[in-house]
Amino acid sequence: MRMRRVRAWWLARRRFEFCLTVAMVVALTGFCGALIMLPNAEGTHAETPRAVTADAIGQAAAADPRLADVRRSIEPFGPIIAEEVATGNGQQSLVVGHPEQHTEIGLLQQELAAATTAVTEVWGPDWAQSALVVVASSPSEFAGLVHAGSTISAEVAAASVADPFVAGSSPTGQRIVFSADAGRRLDDTGMRTLLRHELTHIATRAETRDGAPLWMLEGFADYTAHLGHRFTQVAPTLAAQIRQRELPRDLPPDAAFTGPAAAATYEQAWSVCAFVAEKYDRSRLVELYRRIAAAKQSPVSENQILQDVLGAGRADFIADWRNWLSAQAV
Ligand SMILES: [Zn+2]
Repeated sequence: MRMRRVRAWWLARRRFEFCLTVAMVVALTGFCGALIMLPNAEGTHAETPRAVTADAIGQAAAADPRLADVRRSIEPFGPIIAEEVATGNGQQSLVVGHPEQHTEIGLLQQELAAATTAVTEVWGPDWAQSALVVVASSPSEFAGLVHAGSTISAEVAAASVADPFVAGSSPTGQRIVFSADAGRRLDDTGMRTLLRHELTHIATRAETRDGAPLWMLEGFADYTAHLGHRFTQVAPTLAAQIRQRELPRDLPPDAAFTGPAAAATYEQAWSVCAFVAEKYDRSRLVELYRRIAAAKQSPVSENQILQDVLGAGRADFIADWRNWLSAQAV
């Protein structure tokens, strides 16, 4: 069964995400994506695209200023589908794309309200509780929508972006962009998880400064995205390493979030947050995020924050985390 095999593959082994840092793309303030190694031919959405030649824009969506913002970027790529979706707190989100991606667009429309609720459940209600989600129809449209020029890898499945941060004001220009083939590379669970991951970046953006440690930023986004999932589902690579007695020695450095060890690094970052939520509680995890993400950190400043929020210095915290890890993969 293709569907079952793909799902098993997704849950078991090769979930793989990474984040391209600001240094690569000057215009970007936050940029994160998912790298999925599933070959295109293994698609889970085998439906043939409908031949649609006209725009299909809902009445409310037509009047949404967020549509006007992206319209110029996406218009050259074909007819536009756009629909508003009620999300949290009386807010409306907007999902935009083209007819070729109508399956993914439909799925994202369906998932957005629950994803918003899930993010709010962890982060609290203090964010917009709505988002602009765009599905690109080609690599060049994707690159344009995330302001990435030609630097974006073909394997990035989604990204969240915002305008450069201005101190004291709310983030602007925020959007989540899915690549044209995200829906072919991911099954529904993968799309749902990725949406929640990116939505977490959107929710936390106002509290996040460029250069803050990725173990906190990515770990927290994955924590929210994978809420309720088991350790071995979320972190199969890490679980295998733990069984081999290869425990991480330190919090993962930013450089490890790209390159061949990226999958294991994301899993480690997730596990740090899962550990904090379990040993302490979720509100302290959020407090830790707010403090760590507020600036670029050093081991000394991290030590102080960990001491303030959790009552354990950095060395003790890492030792506790390693002990917790040892007990997870049995
Ligand atoms: Zn991310």
